[in-house]
Amino acid sequence: MSRVLRPAAFLDRDGVINVDHGYTYRPEDLTFVDGAPAAIRRLNEAGYLVVVVTNQSGVARGYYGEADVARFHAHMQRELAKVGARIDAFYACPYHAEGTVAAYRVDHPDRKPKPGMILRALHQLPIDRERSFLIGDQPSDMAAAASADIAGYPFSGGDLDDFLVTVLLQENAA
Ligand SMILES: [Mg+2]
Repeated sequence: MSRVLRPAAFLDRDGVINVDHGYTYRPEDLTFVDGAPAAIRRLNEAGYLVVVVTNQSGVARGYYGEADVARFHAHMQRELAKVGARIDAFYACPYHAEGTVAAYRVDHPDRKPKPGMILRALHQLPIDRERSFLIGDQPSDMAAAASADIAGYPFSGGDLDDFLVTVLLQENAA
């Protein structure tokens, strides 16, 4: 069986998809960044795998658990489905070298700026790395993308779908 590779759009979560309220994990605190659902739908329709890669050190800090992160993502997915948008995979890193929860107090290769989550996705999903890119709002996102040898586009706020249109123009010109 042939394995058809697809481009992937790696998206940071807090500050890119949802408004970053600081350690956001309660479903009722989900506020989409302007244009984020439309951007994800645009990526779905363009044939991209949409992969979230998010540092969640709040787990290591004892603010919430991994089940809370999963619940938040399930809620996000349900809200996106209402507008015909879909995230294909979520990768969340609960670790932090200075965490207060012993099980998560690890300098882990998944934590951005390290590229672990991206590299795992590239391994686990049918992704064409050369046609893939990442959008993030922090220097650590750009560093993770560079380490994984994919393009990184820094999003500094505004409408994510407008931003994505400019990204796709650059990607298609490359
Ligand atoms: Mg962020």
